[in-house]
Amino acid sequence: MSSSDVTTSPRETGAGHGDAVRLDNVVHRYGRGGETFTAVGPVDLTVPAGEFLVLVGASGCGKSTLLRLVAGFERPTHGSVRVHGAEPRPGVTAGVVFQTPRLFPWRTVRGNIDLALRYAGVERARRPERRRELLDRVGLAGVEGRRVWEISGGQQQRVAIARALAAENPLLLLDEPFAALDALTRERLQEDVRQVTARTGRTTVFVTHSADEAVFLGSRIIVLTRSPGTVALDLPIPLPRDGVDAEDLRNSAEFAELRARVSHAVKTAAA
Ligand code: ADP
Ligand code: MG
Repeated sequence: MSSSDVTTSPRETGAGHGDAVRLDNVVHRYGRGGETFTAVGPVDLTVPAGEFLVLVGASGCGKSTLLRLVAGFERPTHGSVRVHGAEPRPGVTAGVVFQTPRLFPWRTVRGNIDLALRYAGVERARRPERRRELLDRVGLAGVEGRRVWEISGGQQQRVAIARALAAENPLLLLDEPFAALDALTRERLQEDVRQVTARTGRTTVFVTHSADEAVFLGSRIIVLTRSPGTVALDLPIPLPRDGVDAEDLRNSAEFAELRARVSHAVKTAAA
């Protein structure tokens, strides 16, 4: 894979060939001795390459823990987590976007992206071109000279998404990235993330507590039970992903039906 390849297709990233993520009998506990608390599991889960998987569940059910296990930030107490057949390595295996963008506020947008490209091992000479591609992709062309504290929350989250895409791994993990944004900005970013991931062919795991967001984004939804989180529902989302108008999709009867179903499952699973 070439280092200038931002618009990696499923073929180029190895997506479309087998499983991107595989969790076998995963249990995760926090604490030690008599004070342990089981946050997740047991969970068995396979995510085929190129899938947009959404994990939905009530607050505290273990969504972030699961995502951190896939990112390699935590190792499971029991069971195994594999990403493309290997143990995940933090900062290497996946691009990660958190609820609050963890950017360098005193740096410019350009500076934040360039730093990510540097960490990703992109040669200095290629960085400007890759940066432009990334900023175009997330709709930020034009603000690259601004400092992070001078742009809006929505724009900051776009920088975080561009930064997560800078690394050339085929896995993108997002943990409630739009929860702190206003409704209009959130909808716009949802549409963009849907398009970006469809175009890059990346395998995506997205965490949310919103049934609406889950149905709009996911090609498959996993509803988790309350803590310790286990799989309560595994639902493919057969909505069209290419060339659809977002507004039409949100207003369709199929969308409403799926949203009601997921919403009901989330409430039942949390009870
Ligand atoms: P969610 O993202 O679904 O809200 P989390 O994965 O953050 O859930 O947390 C699941 C459970 O594990 C919660 O009860 C939470 O309090 C607990 N938990 C999360 N992180 C830690 C930690 N570092 N130490 C102890 N308990 C934790
Ligand atoms: Mg969380």
